[in-house]
Amino acid sequence: MNFVIFSLGSNMGNRLAYLNLAIKGLENQLGDLLIKSNVFETEAWGNKAQTSFLNQVVVFQTNKKPEACLNILQSIEKEQQRKRNEHWGPRTLDIDILFFNQEIINTHRLIIPHPFLEKRLFVLLPLSQILADFVHPKLQKNILQLLQECKDNTQVEKHINGI
Ligand code: ATP
Ligand code: CA
Ligand code: CA
Repeated sequence: MNFVIFSLGSNMGNRLAYLNLAIKGLENQLGDLLIKSNVFETEAWGNKAQTSFLNQVVVFQTNKKPEACLNILQSIEKEQQRKRNEHWGPRTLDIDILFFNQEIINTHRLIIPHPFLEKRLFVLLPLSQILADFVHPKLQKNILQLLQECKDNTQVEKHINGI
């Protein structure tokens, strides 16, 4: 059995509904949801004119391989991206694989651990809530240490309705 940790993000339409659709899709196609963080609201990075993001981290148990997980998450994203044609705008749903067990993977399609996670407060904050002791297999530091060392000062706050 494998443990896979995903980062979810949405900054368009009913953002909370998109995060929940992502979780439902992963439950249907990938495996069992083990833990989910609170939902956090993150000011749009770079382009401040954009709607702020909702972000969440979720942990699943699966018997699928990393490539299969990527295929599944991309099909879930695609289902939701279709709505983009109707209301033109920023993306509805982004699903990234942060970690897959303690594996280090570098292929043309997949980089695990996710290369920017230690630079992103919107990933480290929810991750620290549920897996503070988890050790980054490449950096050999746990999530709490990475959070303390992170220089990102983007505003990230708990979202009220995201519990
Ligand atoms: P970022 O990766 O900086 O968060 P992004 O999420 O906006 O950027 P996308 O356009 O969603 O980037 O994805 C681009 C490509 O990243 C995908 O086609 C996928 O093959 C590749 N990729 C590499 N590593 C991962 C990973 N760990 N999780 C998800 N996609 C990945
Ligand atoms: Ca991303
Ligand atoms: Ca992505």
